[in-house]
Parts: sequence; C-alpha cells; structure tokens
Amino acid sequence: MHHFQYINDELFCENVPVRQICEAVGTPAFIYSRGTLERHFRIFEEPFLPVDHIVCYSMKACSNIAILRVFANLGSGTDIVSGGELFRALAAGVDASRIVYSGVGKKASEIDEALKAEILMFNVESEEELHLVNQRAVALGKRARIALRVNPNVDPLTHPYISTGLKKNKFGIDVERSLELYGRAADMEGIEAIGVDCHIGSQLTELSPFLEAIDRLKEMIGILRSRGISIQYLDIGGGLGIPYDQEEPPAPSLYGTAIVDRIANLNVKLILEPGRLLVGNAGILVTQVLFRKQGPEKSFIIVDAAMNDLIRPSLYNAHHAVWKVARKTNGVNGRIVADLVGPICESSDFLAQSREMEAVETGDLLALMSAGAYGFSMSSNYNSRPRAAEVLVDGDRYFVIRDRESYQDLIRGEHIPPAILQTS
Ligand SMILES: *Cc1c(COP(=O)(O)O)cnc(C)c1O
Repeated sequence: MHHFQYINDELFCENVPVRQICEAVGTPAFIYSRGTLERHFRIFEEPFLPVDHIVCYSMKACSNIAILRVFANLGSGTDIVSGGELFRALAAGVDASRIVYSGVGKKASEIDEALKAEILMFNVESEEELHLVNQRAVALGKRARIALRVNPNVDPLTHPYISTGLKKNKFGIDVERSLELYGRAADMEGIEAIGVDCHIGSQLTELSPFLEAIDRLKEMIGILRSRGISIQYLDIGGGLGIPYDQEEPPAPSLYGTAIVDRIANLNVKLILEPGRLLVGNAGILVTQVLFRKQGPEKSFIIVDAAMNDLIRPSLYNAHHAVWKVARKTNGVNGRIVADLVGPICESSDFLAQSREMEAVETGDLLALMSAGAYGFSMSSNYNSRPRAAEVLVDGDRYFVIRDRESYQDLIRGEHIPPAILQTS
C-alpha cells in the first residue's frame, strides 16, 4: 500500500499532483511520500510491539537525513555500514544508543568515530575486525559492545548479488568459528559481547530462510549462555522483500508474528534492520521523455533519467513499473512495447526493457514506481550527470529535501595542479 494514485487520470503523491512538483524542481526527481514511510514503519513494527525490540532502519536503502528523521520521530534506530552513514544518522538526530554498525570492512577511523558516539553495538564480521575494535576501544578507554555477525549458511532464495548468508559469501563468520571467537572475546579488555547478529540477504520473498537462520542463532545463544556468555540482543537483520512485479513476499504481519513466536522465552531484545520494506514503495523516480526512436528491431523511449539515477535494472535486472504521470484511460493512445533508456553511453543503460505500456509522446512525464530503496542512494555522477533532486511530500505540501546537484558540485574538490596548468 502506498500513497501514489491517480485522480482523474493524473498521478498524485498524497494530495500533490506529481506534475506540479516536476514543474517546480525539474526532472529527474525522486519523490517520497511521508505518509507511506510512516505507514510502512508502523505496519512493520506492529507485530513486535509485545516484545522488547528496536527497529534499526537500514539507511543504505535511502539515506537522506529527512527520511532518517521521519523514522527517528517514530522511535527508529539506524543500521549503518560506514562512517559516512554514522555522520548522516547523527546529523539527522538519530539517538546513538539505537545505532548498530554492520559491514565487512570497517576502518580504524570509522571504529573510533562510532566508539566516541557511543553507539549501541558493532556487528563484527571477522576475527581481525574483532581485534581492531578491541584495540581501538582500549586506546580510547572504552568498551565496545559487539555482536558477531554469524553466517548461518541458509539460502535466501534471492538474486545472487544480494544473497549474503551463504558459506561462499564474504559476510559474517560461520557458526563454529563464531562460537570459538565469542570465547576469545570474553578475554578482551575492550570488548563486551552482548549480541548475536545475522543478515542473510535482501528482497526475500519466502519466510523459511529467516526462520531457519533464527533457529541456528537460537541454538548458538543457548550454547553461549551455557558457557557463561550472557547474550542480551538478537539482531536478525533485514531483507524482507516487496512486490515490484509478480513477487508475493510474506506480509510484514506474517513475518513479524512468525519471528515473535520463534523467539518466545528466549529472553533477548530483538533488533530488526529493515531497509527496502520501509522505503521501497514510498518513493518514485519521475523522468521526462526526451525522444522516441524506432530501431530496426526495437522501439526506444529516451528519457532524462538513466542508470546513474537508478541502477537496479542494469545491476540486478530489476523490474520497476512505469506509470504515466498523465494517463489516458479511454485507450485513444494505444499500447506500445518499448525499451525505456537513458542518455548514458552504455548499452546497459536501461530502466525497462521490452515493456508493454500506453503510448507516450515526447515531453511526457513517466514515473518509475518503487524506486525509494536503493535508488538515490546508489546513484552516481557517471557521464557527469548531476544527481537528481529529492522531494518529500507531506499531505498537501512538499519539500525539496536534496537540491538537484549543480555543475559546480560536479567539480567540487577537483584541482588542476600548477605544473599541469603551465603550458610550456
Ligand atoms: C542491506 C542491509 C540491510 C537491509 O536490507 P533490506 O533488504 O533493504 O531490508 C540490513 N542489514 C544489513 C547488515 C544490511 O547490509
């Protein structure tokens, strides 16, 4: 459920016509619905309300500080994966005691920043990282609260690029080695092991891999406790999928109740790290048709958004529904099959391929639906394209929450050394 709908064949975000926003801020533009963000957060959290828990929004899905603040206002913490994300979370006003820090490659400087901020815990992904966290904590006169990120070796049944919980993946530590490492962590002066963590993948459309992973972690918690290591937190990561096309992921209520049932009597505080589920369907990318072109084999619709704005179709072959901002339901336009492509000099620059849709005219506005997650946050400046504006709609108002980048932004921090400037 989201708040993008047609009123008299005109696409609205909440109570604001999408066209009106584009006339003011231009295209391409990401438009998010506050009502949808809040609705998704509440629906996700609802089944967990009876148990001790923290929802830590996984901000790499969409990291604008206004979006972080919308969730923080509802009590959300944050799952971060870099020092830059820590900076954003703090800038947005997220409570540091609700921040967990995941990721396979934390640098000493990033660890220091997180220790100084007194985040809730580090999700540690290797033995070397554990030693470094210990060393940095001792140097700063602190104790780092940690969980080990366990790789439970379950198949999340999703795209290989977003599977993380298999033995062959770079993430986490296998169960046997984790158990050993908790033993060693107990002797480290700068470490306090308080949790067990996993995150098995993204865009999961089945419940069973989550439950399998939880069962393995439950077993581990039992073993650790029998060895005198008191585990207080169980972090089960994120990964619940959303419907982009034909997928039918389990409803959040089903996911939540199954998990709550599974951990009854375990006596842990649950940490949940949803990303895509909270923001995916709460955002769209609006683009304008520049040209139409008929090739010998295919029809192309060339638009002003490209793979630098939304890389998911190129990277994962992902599907995004394409809606016309002004549609015609009387059928006068007819239907076409076309590739929706951007201006970038790569054949992989497409937003939709062989898509059947209502015919379009040059100048039409098109919305790529479900672009809230891993849209703007994965965008780049490739082909020296300024990154898109971001807009947040709230009822009948809207706010620019990130300015469209300027040409000056493109060369910020670049320098021509004097020796190169000299023409000899
Ligand atoms: C990416 C990520 C998430 C969020 O995944 P979604 O599929 O967006 O819910 C949660 N935890 C960790 C450690 C991640 O890397």
